[in-house]
Amino acid sequence: MPTVETVGGPVDVAALGATLMHEHVFVLSTEYVQNYGAGGWWDEEERVADAVVQLRELVACGIDTIVDPTVWGLGRYIPRIQRISAQVAGLNIIVATGVYTYHEAPFQVRHRGPGTILGGPEPLVADFTRDIVEGIGDTGVRAALLKCCVEEYGLTPGVLRVLRAVAATHRETGTPITVHTSSPAQTGRDAVELLGKEGVDLAKVVVGHAGDSNDLDYLMELADTGAILGMDRFGLDVLNPTADRVRTIAALCDRGYADRMVLSHDASCYMDWFGPDPEIRPAVAPNWHYRHISDDVLPALRAQGVTDAQLDQMLAGNPRRYFAKVG
Ligand SMILES: [Zn+2]
Repeated sequence: MPTVETVGGPVDVAALGATLMHEHVFVLSTEYVQNYGAGGWWDEEERVADAVVQLRELVACGIDTIVDPTVWGLGRYIPRIQRISAQVAGLNIIVATGVYTYHEAPFQVRHRGPGTILGGPEPLVADFTRDIVEGIGDTGVRAALLKCCVEEYGLTPGVLRVLRAVAATHRETGTPITVHTSSPAQTGRDAVELLGKEGVDLAKVVVGHAGDSNDLDYLMELADTGAILGMDRFGLDVLNPTADRVRTIAALCDRGYADRMVLSHDASCYMDWFGPDPEIRPAVAPNWHYRHISDDVLPALRAQGVTDAQLDQMLAGNPRRYFAKVG
């Protein structure tokens, strides 16, 4: 029986159940907190307690697993996730390795690796592999997916470097990938093309944020490569309203693509991108929370003719296939 690593240890892939494939627990810069939040707006205990409440509500909605693609660049901090996970019974949290950048590779690797002052092998591959094989930091928690980005700026030298390191780690370990893309700039195409060229099994790639697009030709082109479409920003109505996201998914199901889509919100318990005040984000995007899919989106999809079997495929079947390692 294939297993997948979670914060609480390995879980049978068959037992993942209903899975939201792109949810953050925290998006939070350590440097920002240390310099501006400590002694001020950041209250670790309050935020942890709030996260526990929000995630327990998610479990009560019938969700069994979340995939948290928070990596280097977004403030990944596994000890905090461990504390929270231990208090939320019935929820698997799968964590990731990789780098979140739209432009350059991190300064910490700028002078190391092929073609740099110090040369040597690509240190990103060593870091990613350690996270997957040994565990992240001293937590013993292993990453079960790789994360990278291709934003509207395209395949910059730094982005290319990260994608190639992600691809190399995938080839070595069989770990699946999720890539943040820009639907307005249709960079899913660049991501899939590059990863394919780098020898990645595209059935193991989620094209993140594909659901910001309603362009069926673009989405089918991506899905026809074998990649999975991340219909993963439900509640971010400012980017694409729920009604449009729902119509697009129903249209793709109608065309036989239920086996190429996964669902999520890209929400978080707390995110510092809107400043410190936790009340700002709900004011801007009131539906951008973990319960929106269960409460609103699934009924809307059913009303559009999406069957329970297709919903099960998107929520459980496709994640199961994605995490079932081959080779
Ligand atoms: Zn995200």
